[in-house]
Amino acid sequence: MSSQTAQQAQQRNGGREAAVLDAVPKQLLIGGQWIDAEGGATLEVLDPSTGRVLCEVADGSPADGVAALDAAVAAQADFAKTSPRERADILTRAFELLHERIDDLALLMTLEMGKPIAEAKGEITYAAEFFRHFASEATRISGGYQTAPAGGARFLIARQPVGPCLLITPWNFPMAMGTRKLGPAIAAGCTSVIKPAHQTPLSMLALGQILIEAGLPEGVVNIVTAERSGAVMEPLIRSGKARKLSFTGSTKVGKILLEQCADKVLRTSMELGGNAPFIVFEDADLEEAVAGALAAKMRNMGEACTAANRIYVHESIAEEFGRRLGEEMGGMTVGRGTEEGVRVGPLIDQAAQDKVTELVTDAVGLGATVVTGGSAPEGEGYFFTPTVLTGVSPQARMGTEEIFGPVAAITPFSTEEEVVAAANDTPFGLVSYVFTNDLRRALRVSEALESGMVGLNQGVVSNPAAPFGGVKESGLGREGGDTGIDEFLETKYIGIALA
Ligand code: NAP
Repeated sequence: MSSQTAQQAQQRNGGREAAVLDAVPKQLLIGGQWIDAEGGATLEVLDPSTGRVLCEVADGSPADGVAALDAAVAAQADFAKTSPRERADILTRAFELLHERIDDLALLMTLEMGKPIAEAKGEITYAAEFFRHFASEATRISGGYQTAPAGGARFLIARQPVGPCLLITPWNFPMAMGTRKLGPAIAAGCTSVIKPAHQTPLSMLALGQILIEAGLPEGVVNIVTAERSGAVMEPLIRSGKARKLSFTGSTKVGKILLEQCADKVLRTSMELGGNAPFIVFEDADLEEAVAGALAAKMRNMGEACTAANRIYVHESIAEEFGRRLGEEMGGMTVGRGTEEGVRVGPLIDQAAQDKVTELVTDAVGLGATVVTGGSAPEGEGYFFTPTVLTGVSPQARMGTEEIFGPVAAITPFSTEEEVVAAANDTPFGLVSYVFTNDLRRALRVSEALESGMVGLNQGVVSNPAAPFGGVKESGLGREGGDTGIDEFLETKYIGIALA
């Protein structure tokens, strides 16, 4: 998009954008109060479609982090005593407020993160569903009563909140990654300190405001926005006051945090990076497979841990598949996410745009053919033109690294054995996609793929009612589903001697 068009768009939306930005709190939320960071420090929030500053928010210090954790610790005992119904009601009210304010929240998210408004609304809806789901789960926390095998004694099995939690979220889904953690934490009766990514603090701050209005007691959720994430979080992890860390982000940072958590043996949930294979067999419905690839690739401009990273298409249909996907992706309008008709917004920052450019250059250097796109457009903002590459060499860097951009990399294959081996030849294991109309093959391949989730003839797996998570270096634990709340509960066994 030209810079002139970007400026026009901002003028058009100017009044409303300014109002939405003004309305969001810019301070830290600690103990139920909005307060400045130590020394009044602030960090800049940028608009990735222009690179310009949107606003400033508090830049929390290590001391601010400690104050936030102290507030969470102070609130823990009382919050654990609240009834499941009270906690469910708070989540339900927050669910309703998210829907009531969806237009403003979506605009806020688009401004700080870049995704088109329609996708931002989709994320708010998805985020709210975690609150609705865990409102129900709060009232279903169950225990057990059992006779000891030898008779006499009885076992009482109780579920209790883990205790104060540290929650760290990434920039790519600024609201949903927050509610996916806060929903089960609140439902289970845990207090928390949550730290959003420095690029996208605004959605989390708006969520904090909503939780207060929904009646959440003071200190139950504390929000620390900070530029120096490691310096702020490490002392909290090592403090011995927090009992759990739930992290969504890169595998590289996840490994550092796991080491830190070992110090005080914290419970951990790790939602880490992916390198999803997307396999299209020769018997698949081609139209469905192209639509699935479009969804799995282009959701969030390709900036999703679930994004189809390696697209393996049977050699008999690879050319046709590439042509059709190229037509679809080549026809997508790129631009500022606030503009009507835009389907592809900017990448998050300059580093992301540079990395995608490098990966494409590397693949083309190794013989890939560019069907459409292939480079970043001229002008301001961190855009990248939707790109389809065919004949991508298995040696290309994008075979082993997350592309995290709107680039579909197609590699042909000839046999089922070969493609399953290639799909599993990665340290990651978050999600895989399989397109086939052969029932036996569908089950055989789904079972053989080393990933926590499989999309069978569908390009989107995320659903708050399903257990989301990965195996291998993609993570530990599951979020959502009927086990998601377990991550925030301890099991206590009480042995009862009967006379
Ligand atoms: P990231 O660099 O790992 O950052 C994630 C979060 O961790 C941010 O809040 C970041 O804060 C914080 N952080 C960074 N270094 C830290 C440290 N030393 N100590 C404590 N916190 C630290 O990941 P990202 O680039 O933002 O996000 C993209 C990655 O997330 C991709 O790999 C993607 O696959 C993964 N992801 C996974 C899932 C899933 O469910 N499996 C979902 C979404 C994304 P600052 O950025 O402010 O430093």
